[in-house]
Amino acid sequence: MEFHLWRNATVLLTIDDQKFLIDPMLGEKGSFGPFPWTEDTRSNPLVNLSFSGEELEKQLEEIDAVVVTHLHPDHWDAEAVKILDKNLPIICPKIIAETIAENGFINVIPITSSVSFNGVKLVLTQGKHGSGEIEEKMGTVNGFVFCTEKESIYFTGDTIWCDAVKLAITKHRPSYVVVAAGAATFALGEPVTMSVDQIKSLGDTFPEVSLIITHLEAVSPCTETRNFIRKEMVSNSSFVHYYIPEDGERLFLE
Ligand SMILES: [Zn+2]
Repeated sequence: MEFHLWRNATVLLTIDDQKFLIDPMLGEKGSFGPFPWTEDTRSNPLVNLSFSGEELEKQLEEIDAVVVTHLHPDHWDAEAVKILDKNLPIICPKIIAETIAENGFINVIPITSSVSFNGVKLVLTQGKHGSGEIEEKMGTVNGFVFCTEKESIYFTGDTIWCDAVKLAITKHRPSYVVVAAGAATFALGEPVTMSVDQIKSLGDTFPEVSLIITHLEAVSPCTETRNFIRKEMVSNSSFVHYYIPEDGERLFLE
């Protein structure tokens, strides 16, 4: 299995010879502007993809399907809508399927529980994009577990540490858990993605899983950096396996 972090939550996952592009944010630095409900006026994304447009084109030609967890622009942006092949299978929660079809994609695969795609099983999971008022504004979010007979990896999607994440790990026993981190925070309420303290709680609860920590240093609401998280994680002895990939880094997972 190969995990290639492009940026933020955008990952090219190769599992059982299938290439899934997850949560494509493909626009140039600054292309979709500031986020709402924040006083931070910086334009997003904060950084470019770590490879050239030519390389992007080449990579996109090789993908078998796109997987979308939710429709916030750091997971599905106007550039993705513009440049992705409209015939590509787009696997997504049923709740957003209509919008993606309206974007012109003709092969949308809505999921309410699970789907099998060329031998890879994708199971839909639930999450909580914050709590209280900000959660209502953020809307519904989902994640996915990808499994084959030999391998499994769970993308939590944008969620805080909550019962739904606990349930997904307990039920599916993934070898790897990909966490949307950064403690993304808006002008109201608590973080809407996991803080390092929440990641530690996850790791304490499931010390057998390997964590891959993403959603960092690419969009303005994120308040925790890779360095900060790295330092905090070192001070927690219960962790055996975790990775904080750089943008563009590939992880070869057994
Ligand atoms: Zn996000």
